[in-house]
Amino acid sequence: MPKHDPAPPPGFDKRRVFLRVGGSRTGADYVLYWMQAVRRAESNLALDEAIRIANDLGLPVVVYEGLRPDYPEANARIHTFIVEGMRENCATASGRRLRYVANVASVDSLDRDALVRLSKRAAVVVTDEMPGFIFPSQTAALARRIDCPLVTVDASTIVPMRELPKKEFAARTIRPRIHRLLPAYFAPFVSPEVSVDGAGVYVDIDETDVASREVNDIVAAAGVDASVDPSPWYRGGRRAGRERLGRFIERGLGHYGEGRRDLDFESTSRLSAYLHFGFVSPLEVALLVRDAGAGPENTESFLEQVIVRRELAFNFVFHEPNYTSVEALPDWARKTLAKHAADPRDDVSAADIEAGTTYDDVWNVPQRELLLTGEIHNQPRMLWGKKIFEWSPTPQDAVDTMIRLHYRYALDGRSPLTYTSILWILGLHDRAWGPERPIYGTVRYMTSDSFRRKFDVKGYRERVDRITGLSG
Ligand SMILES: Cc1cc2nc3c(=O)[nH]c(=O)nc-3n(C[C@H](O)[C@H](O)[C@H](O)COP(=O)(O)OP(=O)(O)OC[C@H]3O[C@@H](n4cnc5c(N)ncnc54)[C@H](O)[C@@H]3O)c2cc1C
Repeated sequence: MPKHDPAPPPGFDKRRVFLRVGGSRTGADYVLYWMQAVRRAESNLALDEAIRIANDLGLPVVVYEGLRPDYPEANARIHTFIVEGMRENCATASGRRLRYVANVASVDSLDRDALVRLSKRAAVVVTDEMPGFIFPSQTAALARRIDCPLVTVDASTIVPMRELPKKEFAARTIRPRIHRLLPAYFAPFVSPEVSVDGAGVYVDIDETDVASREVNDIVAAAGVDASVDPSPWYRGGRRAGRERLGRFIERGLGHYGEGRRDLDFESTSRLSAYLHFGFVSPLEVALLVRDAGAGPENTESFLEQVIVRRELAFNFVFHEPNYTSVEALPDWARKTLAKHAADPRDDVSAADIEAGTTYDDVWNVPQRELLLTGEIHNQPRMLWGKKIFEWSPTPQDAVDTMIRLHYRYALDGRSPLTYTSILWILGLHDRAWGPERPIYGTVRYMTSDSFRRKFDVKGYRERVDRITGLSG
């Protein structure tokens, strides 16, 4: 399947829509929206596209949101966060006259043909265009098996990925392009009304009653790894994401320009997991922040992160097939890392890294935060990654460890930002820094001591220690 330029059929949004399977079907019963990555039932451009097509054809829309038990590192933490969102999606979709179908499968009940069966009665299947993790291969697997049109819609970015036809070199190269293109996209959503009520549509698959069953029961029945507890702090779903955004605008945004460098938990938005699962959209976040009157420095600083830096990550993973490999690093970084490949490294076991019990009592704090809450505060992430690099036998081992820890524990950890930030630790989107040092060569360097000198690690550790029992 061609990846980047399958032109959309006439009448579709050329900037966001990719035609994955062509053709047409008459006599269909509905348009199917497969909600894979953008898990919200409003302010969702992919769902809007499905509604628009259905309205044109005089058909209802079926929204299918599945959750399989076999994604990498599937566990109770990730499942709980997603199922909490499904419950809300069910209510919102039904309120919009969409037919919402949830399926949370266990290994025994996994119905590998469910989507194909649903597609048999669809005029068109619409799903999310999402780079990285399992999304492209899931879409490709469906594309091989269906016999009606399949389109993907880029609903995860503000400036569509297709508008930036090449892999960008760094933030400084993407920034002017984004700023030039942004005015065309920086406007509130105008979603179409649903013309044909989908309430009564019959579907021939097992549905999970996410509306009335307890989230814990649904997750337990899925049989995923229960050894990673749900986050006591981050609750899944759109409402929790919107509340968090509101609280950040009220308490954090007013000093974000300086505050994001603090270790205080209120100093950044902590929206990354909500953005990752699509519970909130980057556009709505950016618009509310733009209009909050928090002063140019704070506003611009936040918009730089949520638009420029975030979309640089999408651009990288969209264009780079080797996004989990050191092969994707710039030449200078690969050369300097190779030159220092045989430098002696501290002997730190994988088990101590995972448990946050290394000899480094500064480094252990963000790892424990990750284990407990499902996220690491923005500021120590660089130290977290640099030390894992220092302690790993090879740079690729470091990348693999960081990705695995993200998959297992991080609620925001399967996103284009995950892969890009991890490779940034090793020089991606960065430049060479002197002086040349052991292990790092000229890759940007950081020590726990310098981190301790700059930040209130004691206060951070105390806050992490107090986390269990906090409710948000
Ligand atoms: C080693 C390492 C691993 C990381 N892993 C992830 C990850 O798995 N998932 C993830 O979403 N982010 C990751 N980041 C990027 C960044 O640290 C997080 O996005 C940020 O800490 C999220 O916290 P926040 O929502 O409070 O950020 P805020 O400061 O409130 O920023 C708002 C949003 O802007 C975006 N953003 C912020 N910083 C960056 C950045 N440096 N690059 C790209 N976008 C950014 C995010 O979408 C974030 O939610 C990683 C960074 C490093 C160094």
